[in-house]
Amino acid sequence: MSLPSNLPIDGQRLWDSLADMAKIGATAKGGNCRLALSDEDKAGRDLFVSWCEAAGCTVTVDRIGNIFARRKGLDDSLPPVVMGSHLDTQPTGGRFDGVFGVLAALEVVRSLNDRGVDTLHPVEVAVWTNEEGSRFSPPMMGSGVVTGVFTLDEILDKVAQDGARLGDELVRTGYAGEAPVDHPMHAYLEAHIEQGPVLEVEGKEIGVVTGAQGQRWYEVTVTGVEAHAGPTPMRLRRDALVAASAMVQAVQRVGLETAGDPCATVGILDVHPHSRNVIPGRVFFTVDLRHPNADTLADMDRRFRAAVAAIAEQNGVGAEIADFWHFPPTPFAKPLVDRVREAAAGFGFSHRDIVSGAGHDAVYVAGKVPTAMIFIPCEDGISHNEVENISPADGARGAAVLFETLVATAGKP
Ligand SMILES: [Zn+2]
Repeated sequence: MSLPSNLPIDGQRLWDSLADMAKIGATAKGGNCRLALSDEDKAGRDLFVSWCEAAGCTVTVDRIGNIFARRKGLDDSLPPVVMGSHLDTQPTGGRFDGVFGVLAALEVVRSLNDRGVDTLHPVEVAVWTNEEGSRFSPPMMGSGVVTGVFTLDEILDKVAQDGARLGDELVRTGYAGEAPVDHPMHAYLEAHIEQGPVLEVEGKEIGVVTGAQGQRWYEVTVTGVEAHAGPTPMRLRRDALVAASAMVQAVQRVGLETAGDPCATVGILDVHPHSRNVIPGRVFFTVDLRHPNADTLADMDRRFRAAVAAIAEQNGVGAEIADFWHFPPTPFAKPLVDRVREAAAGFGFSHRDIVSGAGHDAVYVAGKVPTAMIFIPCEDGISHNEVENISPADGARGAAVLFETLVATAGKP
């Protein structure tokens, strides 16, 4: 394994810690299963806490189970610069999604110790509770409670598919902390695998994340007339599936004909009555539109609605669009984003600006404090999969950029 030399962090130590954490909840195909607040998640958290204490940090846990490991600042009354991500995974998750951001942050703290670097602000490593939203829904609970997106009480009462109540699982695993959930932060930095193919395809080593895409999710119901597939002539049909298929094509066109970084996806399609000799009378499908610019996303929304109405009219069917969920575009703090870019350039790493297409704890935190993210490439752009992989060198580069950005933000004496 060849690691870049002359970095302020220890890439081999980071890689070894990633490997040690991956032993907890290891799956047969080389991935990880540490569902939020399961026994495996608890074991991962316990290991993390032991590492932080060995690095001289003071560990606190808040009432939603978020962990904050603190390294003193020269002025310890100042709010901390927080780095972090999540340790929970999907049921067949990978070894790096979330975990990389947590352990890269720990590596930064270990390296500050090694080099005897003091910072003006205290520095913290955060582990956010239930980012994945797999065992307990919705996702990004820990960061969502801290930033006021959800109330503590509504989240404590969430029940998992296995019947467990979240508040009870916090107690059972020993992570029902005492600290209030309005944690003060000077700034927040999150390193993460890209979870897409752009950096790898373009041969870039670092993604400078400028913000997160806005998202609009819809449910569409198309209503035609069910009829026998034999006796009903073609010209007299009101086929809900034929209309819906044109609408699926229209959704794709909304994406293809939008500038910037658009996404437009139909992910679910249910056909009723789902019988091979009945003309479909009703079709349900979901639509997911995304764009980093609010005006463009609003324009995509208008074009999507107009297309569905026109296609329904042409096909003599009804079409109803229900708004399911909406999340506005979230730009990150420009001075911090500039610092990430300068850090990458300073090391001579190839880099590009990139918009996050996925949800992250950083997206909620950005609503409250100045926030930036650092992406590293992942193999074939694959994540939420046991084969998820990164190279040790890319991991080291991401941690080095995190180190530089942290030091510049937390302030030298
Ligand atoms: Zn993640």
